[in-house]
Amino acid sequence: MAAKLSVRDLDVSGKRVFCRVDFNVPLEGGRVADDARIAASLPTIRLLLERGAKVLLASHLGRPKGKRVPEMTLAPAAARLAELLGAKVPLAPDCVGPEVAAIAAAMAPGSAILLENLRFHAQEEKNDPDFAAGLAALAELYVNDAFGSAHRAHASTAGIAQRLPRAAAGLLMQAELDNLSVLLGGAARPYVAVLGGAKVSDKLDLIRNLMTRVDRILVGGAMAYTFLKAQGVGTGDSRVEADLVDTARTLLAEAAQKGIPLKLPVDHRVRPSAGGAASSTPGTEIPAGSVGLDIGPRTAAEFRGDLEGARTVLWNGPVGLFEEPPFDDGSRLVADAIAGSKAHSVVGGGDTASAVRRFGLVDRFTHVSTGGGATLEFLSGLPLPGVEALSNA
Ligand code: AMP
Repeated sequence: MAAKLSVRDLDVSGKRVFCRVDFNVPLEGGRVADDARIAASLPTIRLLLERGAKVLLASHLGRPKGKRVPEMTLAPAAARLAELLGAKVPLAPDCVGPEVAAIAAAMAPGSAILLENLRFHAQEEKNDPDFAAGLAALAELYVNDAFGSAHRAHASTAGIAQRLPRAAAGLLMQAELDNLSVLLGGAARPYVAVLGGAKVSDKLDLIRNLMTRVDRILVGGAMAYTFLKAQGVGTGDSRVEADLVDTARTLLAEAAQKGIPLKLPVDHRVRPSAGGAASSTPGTEIPAGSVGLDIGPRTAAEFRGDLEGARTVLWNGPVGLFEEPPFDDGSRLVADAIAGSKAHSVVGGGDTASAVRRFGLVDRFTHVSTGGGATLEFLSGLPLPGVEALSNA
């Protein structure tokens, strides 16, 4: 992928800049319950303001499905952003149209407004050309800082970028691309990937792509059971994707052929299917009447050994049901092992990022991605429309 134009290299002084951010934040009682996503875009917003831009921030929130849903207004996000910036951030009545254009035209340099929820218009997700043109008409330059939405070709992430003379990556977008790119080329070795989570089906492309790049893949989480099933190991009542057992067998064969160790758990933390106390299995088998919910202590020790000497680590997917103690033990041990290593360590977003936050270890990782689907697609080697659409450096 060609290097993309950075917001740092954009002459924004006195210009109206349409800045796509990801303010898709959880709300509680009309207030922002977790402002991490807003905070993540502050460096880009501050840079634009300091350089005298007129900043039109735009985001989606929830799934209003093309209708104006009052509960999905971005008003709470505007209020929280204003607090964080210590400056006024008015919310525009809409994200497009003559009224918004008039507000944009009257803006002073070094000020920001937040446009109302992009998804109040069904055309946003359809990347409708007229709607994209309407968004573009508001501004003179485009900046995309919404890495988490970059895997979608929507009007505000793709269509608009072609309609403005210059389209640059924001600082968060840039940091995501820089840190994730290391994992796809030029990573220091040994390079170890830890994969977990609920489903193999979500991660087939990722596993295939990583197989050509890493030295070792450690598999935990429910997805390990589909691989174990493919090896003929008993998995009790654990979560298995029956339709993917053959695919899992093929992946194991591909890994063996490439000489990439794909390590599966050698023991498990389980619970009786009918409920009851957690226990560890003596070996790889999960007995009938039990559900596997975490990697066992021997597996955790082995994984730690592999992670200690690593120079690059990607972790995508918790290795157990980390939301329910004691089945968070395995993920905590993995997190500790990576945090204690000297590796360039990257956490793929989504649930793994939540786990690392829960363990209070965010600062011990080189990079915790803000993307879920976008991170997965990028690391699977797929082009991201929101990145492709940006101007080359
Ligand atoms: P994913 O979105 O595919 O990364 O899956 C993350 C989810 O998988 C988290 O909610 C974990 O709690 C869950 N998970 C991980 N391991 C297991 C397991 N052994 N059994 C059930 N759920 C699991």
